[in-house]
Amino acid sequence: MESDRIALVTGASKGIGAAIALALARDGFDVWLNYRADQASANAVAEQVRSLGRECTPLQFDVSDREQTRAAMAPLLEQRTPWALVNNAGFARDAMFFWMSPAEWSDVLDVHLNGFFHITQLVVAAMLRQRRGRVVNIASTSGQAGMPGQVNYAAAKGGLISATRALAQEIAPRNILVNAVSPGFIKTTMTEELPVEEICKRIPLGRMGTAEEVAKVVSFLCSDAASYITGQVIGVNGGIHM
Ligand code: NAP
Repeated sequence: MESDRIALVTGASKGIGAAIALALARDGFDVWLNYRADQASANAVAEQVRSLGRECTPLQFDVSDREQTRAAMAPLLEQRTPWALVNNAGFARDAMFFWMSPAEWSDVLDVHLNGFFHITQLVVAAMLRQRRGRVVNIASTSGQAGMPGQVNYAAAKGGLISATRALAQEIAPRNILVNAVSPGFIKTTMTEELPVEEICKRIPLGRMGTAEEVAKVVSFLCSDAASYITGQVIGVNGGIHM
């Protein structure tokens, strides 16, 4: 791998994003660690990255806010270009479609789709000049198969999967690879309210996944070993969607 071994991970203060930041630090990447609000958790992850011997730059901004994203990223991108961008920031706002509020609809589309657009456009502009890079988008089984109560989230993640495929085709000639990792039910704060026993009955492997199991696939996609993989959606879901 050449030049800057930096990975930018959005939503890395906890959960899957934190596990990805740590996995990539173990792989030898310095980490630009984005989060929205939870500074204490972000700082704790940053300390763990540093204890692995890598540099970590915490970056507080809301990916759904184009101006905040530009203001935080532009000065850094003038100096250095990350090797990898992992679009992970996000949340769900579940509601049955009939009762879904306009805010529940637009907040979820904003973070997953507009968030992807804002930061990826900035980072890919720099990657195009370097003629190398990796983009990994964290999708969801919901975006592949749909899930009742998640019309907003399924629409956002399904859109992200399609964006992954389209962008992969656009920038493959510049040696920038774009893939999606699509988790099923993973133990994080996002899923802590769910009825675990009921859900596990529907999962062929009989259990929820861990953030580390998702992070290992992201780590692979950011490695030299994944140099001929682009435009793919890789499920990490215990078999709940095949
Ligand atoms: P989580 O534990 O709730 O962590 C979410 C992270 O995203 C936090 O670091 C949070 O920052 C950050 N974030 C949220 N909105 C943001 C914004 N507007 N700008 C910047 N950062 C923002 O969630 P998770 O379960 O790890 O989920 C991570 C990703 O995996 C999401 O995209 C989610 O849709 C996807 N996913 C999760 C599951 C699952 O079962 N857990 C399954 C499929 C897909 P703060 O802490 O500062 O608010």
